[in-house]
Amino acid sequence: MLKDKFYSVFKGKCPACHQGDVFESGAIYNPKKFDKMYEKCAHCGHKYEIENGFWYGAMYVSYGMTVAFSVATFVLTYLIYPDADAWLYFGLIVFVLLALVPITFRYSRLIWMNLFTSYNPNKIH
Ligand SMILES: [Zn+2]
Repeated sequence: MLKDKFYSVFKGKCPACHQGDVFESGAIYNPKKFDKMYEKCAHCGHKYEIENGFWYGAMYVSYGMTVAFSVATFVLTYLIYPDADAWLYFGLIVFVLLALVPITFRYSRLIWMNLFTSYNPNKIH
């Protein structure tokens, strides 16, 4: 069951049927396209935004990822260059977080929708 959710999250597939794509473009680093999502699954018709404001919840996941990336950047900087100035830590963390915006955005939504929808191979409209 957890394996099903990992599949949906890492392949960017519909959490209900694992067939339809969630995002319209594979170009995750295209600033005009990385956030474009399909409204429904093309395969089973599952509506991704279950209710109005559903994506606000994804911000909690996004926050957790942001904290994890920040801590990882801090620790790596410390291991590589322990004498670094505080501004270097700060600058690197900001840089890493900005560089990872499309990844944080997509994976936070995929994780969030998988918390509320289970895999059901028979779900076809
Ligand atoms: Zn589907």
